[in-house]
Amino acid sequence: MTTLADPLPGGRPGDVDRARALSGELSGRGVHGIVLSYVDTAGVGRVKTVPVAGLASATAWGVGMSPVFDTFLADDSVVTTDVLGSPDGDLRLFPDLDRLVVLAGQPGWAWAPVDRITQDGDRHPGCSRTFLRRIVADAARAHGVSFRAGIEIEWVIGLDSAPAGAFVPAATGPAYGAIRQVEMSDCTADLLAACAAQGVDVEQVHPEYAPGQFEISVGALDPVAAADRSVLVRQTIRAVARRHGLRVSFSPAVEARGVGNGGHVHLSAWRDGVNLYAGGDRRHGMTADAEAFTAGVLDRLPALTAVTAPSPASYLRLRPSQWAGVFTAWGLETREAALRLVRGTAGRRAEQANLEVKPVDLAANPYLALGCLIAAGLAGLASGAPLPEETSGDPVGLDADRAAARGVRRLPVSLDEAVAEFCADDVLRAALGPVLADAVTAVRRGEIAAVEGLDDERVAAAYRWRY
Ligand code: GLU
Ligand code: MG
Repeated sequence: MTTLADPLPGGRPGDVDRARALSGELSGRGVHGIVLSYVDTAGVGRVKTVPVAGLASATAWGVGMSPVFDTFLADDSVVTTDVLGSPDGDLRLFPDLDRLVVLAGQPGWAWAPVDRITQDGDRHPGCSRTFLRRIVADAARAHGVSFRAGIEIEWVIGLDSAPAGAFVPAATGPAYGAIRQVEMSDCTADLLAACAAQGVDVEQVHPEYAPGQFEISVGALDPVAAADRSVLVRQTIRAVARRHGLRVSFSPAVEARGVGNGGHVHLSAWRDGVNLYAGGDRRHGMTADAEAFTAGVLDRLPALTAVTAPSPASYLRLRPSQWAGVFTAWGLETREAALRLVRGTAGRRAEQANLEVKPVDLAANPYLALGCLIAAGLAGLASGAPLPEETSGDPVGLDADRAAARGVRRLPVSLDEAVAEFCADDVLRAALGPVLADAVTAVRRGEIAAVEGLDDERVAAAYRWRY
């Protein structure tokens, strides 16, 4: 019996018939091709595409793609682990029909995320989407807990006509400003229309702080769906911008200095339909389980950074006093602590309360990031980890004694430091399993080697158009 938590060739019962009907319906709607999408360990979206008539076959048998992409770097060079990075072997990509959408920003195309499965029908241990499914299924089984997640998306919009490799902001109006909203009026309206047509509920979209920067936030979903949605929305933003002669970058640091692009994660934990972050008798309405879950994430943030901020460019963004949250601290509605407790509006707290994790960017593979954040939180929940005193204001101003009392320390300042923390973290490595954990380590070390000797400007330039 195949289930969503355990995908197998042929999909779930009835999937092939469903795919056959779908491909007729999609053809009728002018769709010619299906984009089969996943994200590699470096955080780069990779795809195969098939004609719409091939959907039933893809659903039954998958579509071939080498496992070598598990150890691709962002510049498309390849590193190796004991088991990955070889030119040998093949995998099958199986589209998730529940998530198939017609792409409103790319006429003629539909899109579906895939699970990657071996030719023998086993789960591929390097598949990040399958990893996140497993973490979510284990949480339900072992703790009776489920999750809702939303990933914020920040990006900058540049002129396509800019000199090769350069970023020239396409909008020059002030941060959060009316001028910038008008400058990008047509493009943003098309983005909203595309999201609506694709069933993505947008909460807000606004001009952000950095030159040419915007942000969109979308409704929370279960973690796998939230990660899928993050990939889909980025594909849509890029496609819509291209139709306006514009170019977008989600890189953590499009320029070496100043505010970067974040990918803050909002996460809430639920049991029996009740949000553990609301209505509890602990601080700010948290339940004891929410406090312990938060403590688990807080404890492991330095190691998590290797997954949530995976690029050398990530460390150009992760600087104090830029709302990127670079201190291991938590606080109520505070924007410089790595963890911001969002209590929500009075009257809506039971649905809205959540934990916002800030040191996450969009170079991160969203499946790996959510899976590792949840694994860290669950380790805290299982051990009843104590949550230290909260902080307010910018932790950069905390004196050494008060910082020590609250366990406040600076997150890794380089990918090198983050990888060392990750390698020493048994909980994260065990959650990922040896194949994925080794892939993360090898890919991060590969990125470090790729930028050796480069100054900040050249690091920013190297990744500017890769994410
Ligand atoms: N751009 C900031 C970052 O890199 C976040 C700004 C905000 O709080 O929305 O995380
Ligand atoms: Mg923002």
